[in-house]
Amino acid sequence: MLTVQATANTADREALEALIGPDRATELRSAADTIRERLGGGTLWHVNSTGAGGGVAEMLHTAIPLYTSLGVRAKWAVIGGDDRFFSITKRLYGALYGSIGDGGTLGDEERADYLRHLGVVADAFRELLTPDDILILHDFQTTGLIDLLGKDVAATYWRCHVGVDEQTEASSLGWDFLTPMLDHADGLIFSVDWHVPERLRERAVTILPPFVAPFIAKNTDLAPDVIADVLTRCGLSAAPPATRPTTVDVGGRAIHLNHAATVVSAGPPEPGQPLAAQISRWDRLKDMHGVLAAFTTFVPEGYLALVGPDPASIPDDIEQGVWFQRCVTDWQALPPDLRSRVAIICLPMADLSENALLVNAIQRSATTVTQKSLVEGFGLTVAEAMFKGRVVVASAVGGIRAQITHGDTGLLVEDPTDLAAFGALVTKALRDTPENHTMGVRARERVLTNFLPDREIVTTAEMITA
Ligand code: UDP
Repeated sequence: MLTVQATANTADREALEALIGPDRATELRSAADTIRERLGGGTLWHVNSTGAGGGVAEMLHTAIPLYTSLGVRAKWAVIGGDDRFFSITKRLYGALYGSIGDGGTLGDEERADYLRHLGVVADAFRELLTPDDILILHDFQTTGLIDLLGKDVAATYWRCHVGVDEQTEASSLGWDFLTPMLDHADGLIFSVDWHVPERLRERAVTILPPFVAPFIAKNTDLAPDVIADVLTRCGLSAAPPATRPTTVDVGGRAIHLNHAATVVSAGPPEPGQPLAAQISRWDRLKDMHGVLAAFTTFVPEGYLALVGPDPASIPDDIEQGVWFQRCVTDWQALPPDLRSRVAIICLPMADLSENALLVNAIQRSATTVTQKSLVEGFGLTVAEAMFKGRVVVASAVGGIRAQITHGDTGLLVEDPTDLAAFGALVTKALRDTPENHTMGVRARERVLTNFLPDREIVTTAEMITA
């Protein structure tokens, strides 16, 4: 029902402090002191429902070791669930993103089952808590714990990573379900201001976007031979690399390249052919097949890689298999000259460090990275690519709007369903121009200034002492 999650990353605090410079490093340490004082003998708990996969887990694997290295007692608890619980939370996920996919309800019966399950989680969790502890509960899977555990700890905060730019009937139903459970939270956290629903605007709200962890396998600098090897392994290069490392040293940690990617393509790009890549879950809202349609209809040159996790490795998420298959079917229906300009790539998931390294290498070798989401909470893939100096072409939705200023730090398409507009921007981003080069440099600067892990800790300190 509840697991105390071990983290995969190390803090890399000294490297982070060197990257952010002395002023921000001092601010970071002072924030840690503030949190330590506020906690007294207590622990800062982050609580979510998955230890791997997706942006929240990605972030906590770095935040927890960073807290620890700064002398703050911080832990991460992952709640479990049965099929009924996760079918309700999946419905909530759809609702809060604007549509209830399975057409089911979110009424009293669902609320009772949801709270019954979280009651069992709370009983197990209570054993680990002290009255000085502070809870930061992530997303709609944990909201019910505010009331269930609020009296056992010093404070509870609820952090929302999802949202729509304009509320719909379905999202209102989602908020009808959650709002009564939020009354006793000491504060609410959203990634962007425009995801705060009207009904919560009077509450204490902190805006805190997620961050990019600069030194993990997903984001750290990679040697050219490692990138070359990954491209060959993922069907994006015909050239056998000069060396073929099977173990790569990433910041002193050994990562093994053992597992093959599954590639659907008619062959790799021609040498020198510029690469556009979208790396996402195979989710309807990430619109991978929309990227394929836009690219093959409106982008006259270049090569497209659609990259996601191997659906065979996530059998409990049937939908990902469906949307992956949709891309393959659409690709099969293309004429040969277009088919030869696209690869659909499933990355192995058996070793998450290896998966992260493959994502990193593909993002680094792409001329442009796209994120054509229909809706988006924050869109960590965008910040990851910007950190690597890529020109990102993305939909102007959700947290992406907080990351990219059109024409300055990337390119935004206002209507995510406008394939021609998206295609035109991808065509522009694939060109080797001084303008694109400058945009890539500014994109990286934007991430260095706004989306690194020190923000997480400084803002948390402000919030829990407000
Ligand atoms: N990701 C990954 N492997 C994949 C596809 C995606 O590691 O095959 C990562 C991606 O790099 C990012 C996270 O999953 O760190 C997705 O976060 P984002 O906020 O973009 O979307 P979410 O999946 O949380 O909706």
